[in-house]
Amino acid sequence: MEKALNTLVSSFERVWIDERSRDSRLAQRALQLFPADKIEFTNEIPGASHRGEMSAEQFNRSKKQLSIRPFDGYFFKRCPGASQKKVLNCCNSHVLNLGQQCNMNCSYCYLQSYLNSPTMVMYSNIDQALAELREMATLHGELPFRVGTGEVIDSLSLDEITLYSRELIPFFAEFPKWTLEFKTKSAQVDQFLDCEHAGNVIVSWSINAPQIIESDEHGTARLHERLAAARKCRDKGFQVAFHIDPIIWFPEWKEGYSFLIEQMTKLFSPEEINVISLGTLRFQPEQRHMMRERFGMKSYVTSAEMFPSEGNKLRYDASLRKEMFDFVLAQLRAKTVNGKSYRSFLCMETPETWISAYDKNPMQQSEIKDLFRPLPKLSSELVSSRL
Ligand code: SF4
Repeated sequence: MEKALNTLVSSFERVWIDERSRDSRLAQRALQLFPADKIEFTNEIPGASHRGEMSAEQFNRSKKQLSIRPFDGYFFKRCPGASQKKVLNCCNSHVLNLGQQCNMNCSYCYLQSYLNSPTMVMYSNIDQALAELREMATLHGELPFRVGTGEVIDSLSLDEITLYSRELIPFFAEFPKWTLEFKTKSAQVDQFLDCEHAGNVIVSWSINAPQIIESDEHGTARLHERLAAARKCRDKGFQVAFHIDPIIWFPEWKEGYSFLIEQMTKLFSPEEINVISLGTLRFQPEQRHMMRERFGMKSYVTSAEMFPSEGNKLRYDASLRKEMFDFVLAQLRAKTVNGKSYRSFLCMETPETWISAYDKNPMQQSEIKDLFRPLPKLSSELVSSRL
């Protein structure tokens, strides 16, 4: 762990600590970890004067500049997919953003079309985030809320610096009907494995064919490292989930995704995996230019033609998506053990694709319909302002 932490710390060129965050636990930890000559205290938001789109070079640089500051809005909100429910089947999740930007480099990353800040940010006021959660949990602790921390930042890749997992896991132990979901492409789990939990923490990994990890997921943990980290979590009683997402076409895609499923199912029985979500490659057309500049011809994301589709994203055409889903689902079904199969669902997909893959919609699938059941109408004013 020490070596990984040192590598992570040395990947940052500069750390700004907002004066308002000076006494926070995060700032105090940063002062312990980073050399003094990398740290600067400030009353300004670093890069606040930046206007317009970022160049590829500015975007790359933003991943090495860390700003520690308080977040001034509400932390807790509904997953953005929920607003597109008429066209996409999306599970009922909530998000808690404790920072933004990512220290890893995936060619297809949607942050390239979403972020416009020259620094990575970690919010220092976790106490406010926990207070918001407590307010909601006190009102709605009996409802099956799923709260994810990996929407605009990887949930765990900076966790050895922030140690926020160690604050969230005990909090969720108080509200066992709620579920906390970490989503990551890192293998950073040792820092929370000793935390007491209530069995309601899901640690989930985006996993991909090794060829794609090599060509398009730079700086992430390799497949065997992600699976080994998942095994450690499962052995400590944490729930484990996988996102085979984005499934990307490349000449040997069938071999690549068969290998992936082979490796995953060798280490985990169907009962040991909470759920496996599947999604094919999709991204906003605006990020094509940035992707080309940052990753050029080395990437597989441009190997098959993409078309405008639901949610204004580019996707493979429906027949290729169906072929890929059918193939991966057939591989998973072939791994059924003693009548027990792996639970799977399609992420951010249209009802048509879903029905063609499973012959039914999510609410007709008994093993996953709880993920999609709409929450009862929530009564408080607090909720209407935030969700
Ligand atoms: S790990 Fe996730 S957030 Fe980070 S670069 Fe890759 S896709 Fe983006």
